[in-house]
Amino acid sequence: MFFPLCSAANFDRLAGVNNESEILVVGGGAIGLSTALALAVDGRQVRVLETGVIGSGASHGNCGTITPSHAPPLAAPGMVLQAMRWMLTPGAPLYIKPRLDPALWRWLLGFAARCNHKDWHASALGRAAILNDSRARLADWVQRHGLQCEFAEEGVDYVFRDPRNFQRNVGECEELRGFGVVSEVIDGDAYLASEPALKPGIAGVIRFPGDARLRPDRYVAELARVLRALGGNIDEHRKVDAVRVEADGVRVHTGQGEYRAREVVIALGAWSPQLTRSLGFRLPVQPGKGYSITYSRPALVPKRPLSLRDRSVCVTAWGSGFRLGSTMEFSGYDTSLNPTRLGMLERAAREYLHEPVGATVEERWYGWRPMSSDDMPAIGRVPGQRNVWLAAGHGMLGISMSAATGQLVADLIAGREPAIDPAPYSPARFA
Ligand SMILES: Cc1cc2nc3c(=O)[nH]c(=O)nc-3n(C[C@H](O)[C@H](O)[C@H](O)COP(=O)(O)OP(=O)(O)OC[C@H]3O[C@@H](n4cnc5c(N)ncnc54)[C@H](O)[C@@H]3O)c2cc1C
Repeated sequence: MFFPLCSAANFDRLAGVNNESEILVVGGGAIGLSTALALAVDGRQVRVLETGVIGSGASHGNCGTITPSHAPPLAAPGMVLQAMRWMLTPGAPLYIKPRLDPALWRWLLGFAARCNHKDWHASALGRAAILNDSRARLADWVQRHGLQCEFAEEGVDYVFRDPRNFQRNVGECEELRGFGVVSEVIDGDAYLASEPALKPGIAGVIRFPGDARLRPDRYVAELARVLRALGGNIDEHRKVDAVRVEADGVRVHTGQGEYRAREVVIALGAWSPQLTRSLGFRLPVQPGKGYSITYSRPALVPKRPLSLRDRSVCVTAWGSGFRLGSTMEFSGYDTSLNPTRLGMLERAAREYLHEPVGATVEERWYGWRPMSSDDMPAIGRVPGQRNVWLAAGHGMLGISMSAATGQLVADLIAGREPAIDPAPYSPARFA
């Protein structure tokens, strides 16, 4: 298929241009691939460019929970004080490495400014809309495209050992209902009677029956499989280092040559600001580092994914394995695996579970969550750029929001009325 970005004669003269596509998607994580899939379903000719192999970023070893229940954003009233307390507490779920990084300080100021009820409520509404749409759309995609990714719609249980923390969270359930998130409160003893994987001492549980889970590495691989079957291309080992907007399209430079397209979608997760900066747009996204350990599946596992709320650790069991994950560290683009942080995952699991780990460790992993300063994704046109789109900043919820994000980008590019109001996610809010 040929897309007349420029005349054929001009095109021949473009030295080093080795490929022309209708739409280039830069970044082969869950967001890039779901966007490419939604575009391919629309009949667009799509090519994904990925610096490593697909799904090698945050989309690889995350916990795989699909959680409309996480609609409330991190930027909440009282969070600044809480974060300062955590900074002084060894083993706390959040760590900010003190350093002189203007982008981090701008991010922190932006985040702190959102820690009030009005902004919290606005973000929660926006997050709920995209989460609820994505949850339903994902179930549809799994069925329609036959995605073999261990998807299960069994809900997620938030488990509490601390009675005060439990009561505080129960108090927030009514507000969550206002965001379309249904919950059931279960007494600790009643829960233990039906869930033998947990140790005694559970104060209570909040079940979110609308939540779900999947195995994220398989999800990403399946998105890629379906995309290719629909005629989409994926070029791995292509590091995009510049995007240049021209009169009739976009030129994308990689170490392996140049690509041209009518439109480009930047879906680089935590790396996105590095590319948008070259387009004159400062995207307030910081890498929020999290860790996971994947094991062979223990004999006794919880029936549903668990959020161990007093420790902020997530437990997910699939037929194919078992994962502990979480912690949030703002330490820049740091690539080390911190043994203390990994140890925290196992310590938390030991408090709650009879069989906290599997017999074999399959992988110790870190990933950079793309944390935006208002904890909302940035989806839409890059300000001032007609043909450059952004799908980034999904923070702790990129898997949960992936299907809706893909569809939203496809709708915006097509000029159709989207399923959800795009306004809350517009990158222009940061311009
Ligand atoms: C411990 C942990 C647990 C989590 N648990 C959950 C969960 O249970 N549920 C949930 O919804 N979310 C969860 N998340 C968040 C989720 O993993 C992310 O929000 C999501 O993966 C982001 O997807 P992405 O496609 O935007 O980014 P990524 O998956 O990071 O993809 C970006 C891609 O861009 C590529 N890239 C980078 N630079 C370039 C370049 N210059 N050129 C070309 N390609 C490039 C990278 O290699 C990468 O593949 C978790 C995250 C962590 C760390």
